[in-house]
Amino acid sequence: MSALANGKKWRAGVLGATGMVGQRLVKLLADHPWFTLTEVAASERSSGKRYAEAVRWHLEGPVPEVARGLVVKELEPNLDCDFLFSALDSSVAGPAEEEYARRGYPVVSNSRNHRQDPDVPLLIPEVNAAHLNAIPVQQKNHGYDSGFIVTNPNCSTAGLVVVLKPLADAFGLEKVFVVTLQAISGAGYPGVPALDIQGNVVPFISGEEEKMEAEPQKLLGKWDGNRFIEAGLGISAHCNRVPVVDGHLECVSLRLKKTATLDEVREALRSYQVSDQLASLPTALKHPVVVLDEPDRPQPRKDVNAGHGMAAVVGRIRECPLFDVKLTLLSHNLVRGAAGAALLNAELLAAQGFLKSRNQARAQSVEPVSR
Ligand code: NAP
Repeated sequence: MSALANGKKWRAGVLGATGMVGQRLVKLLADHPWFTLTEVAASERSSGKRYAEAVRWHLEGPVPEVARGLVVKELEPNLDCDFLFSALDSSVAGPAEEEYARRGYPVVSNSRNHRQDPDVPLLIPEVNAAHLNAIPVQQKNHGYDSGFIVTNPNCSTAGLVVVLKPLADAFGLEKVFVVTLQAISGAGYPGVPALDIQGNVVPFISGEEEKMEAEPQKLLGKWDGNRFIEAGLGISAHCNRVPVVDGHLECVSLRLKKTATLDEVREALRSYQVSDQLASLPTALKHPVVVLDEPDRPQPRKDVNAGHGMAAVVGRIRECPLFDVKLTLLSHNLVRGAAGAALLNAELLAAQGFLKSRNQARAQSVEPVSR
């Protein structure tokens, strides 16, 4: 379904490979069944060095063998790969991703720059796979040949929307009130200074509340063939940085359109499952929402790696005196909220025939000489 015709793996490049998200991608790609890492790129601070020397490795275990010896490139026009993951800092991601799309590369981005573009899918495969139908429109609008951009949401939005989706399907959603407690790895490296966050809570993350209030509208909305129609939810978000390494915890209150008992809400979340086709993607979970019954869960240290970091973990489902129901959810900001999300997006693109080998794409883009 997803391999190249010759049975080889797709060749993947990672832009921003030395950063927090880039490292996760490098690690996840190291033993991926469909993709192989062939290029790593970052800033001039890292370029020209072997990856193992350039990267300040934050993950468990050594730098993967496949990446160690790769020479880190700058954002050069031609990279030896079929498609690109972008984990670039948002100060450079916007024009760089467009330029690679123009050059024929599918770009699977983590950055915020193109999430709200009117023809760019903001994708969570379990939620809105049909938004991939915007790609041909994007290619036409921009004159892209085989290239395009697909993005994944902000790290705190990702877990929230995976949980909202089954509730929207079962009962309809009217209002969402959410307070986040976000991990420091969400700020990249070096991120928040230790003196600001140690033993402290910082009740401000620049731009985060705006993203959390806007992105679910697109994700839970529809692509009508020409444009995205927003979901029209009422959302209010408060975002806080807390001294946790990985995992964003979110306290959520919901107003539903249809009346539902707490047991029905619990059951809608617990029984939520994706199609067999989606579940067959290597990074997908059949049940992307995990419901815990213990009164003091989920907790970042105990639950952040549920489902290899791809699960949204929900607990404390109870009545809300102001809205209808309230709950607590947790998701891994660097996996479900970034690298794992991008990987799953790329797997869906491969499975649906949106990736082409660069040789094949170039061959198709050459104008016939004879008439
Ligand atoms: P990060 O740790 O600061 O890494 C940024 C990466 O961008 C590094 O590889 C850096 O290379 C590279 N870079 C910076 N300036 C560059 C330039 N001028 N040219 C080429 N490369 C450049 O950030 P991060 O947390 O991994 O985030 C990466 C992207 O994903 C951001 O857009 C962020 O908003 C988004 N995101 C992050 C999370 C999260 O939880 N951290 C979640 C979702 C989305 P050097 O090492 O050479 O400087």
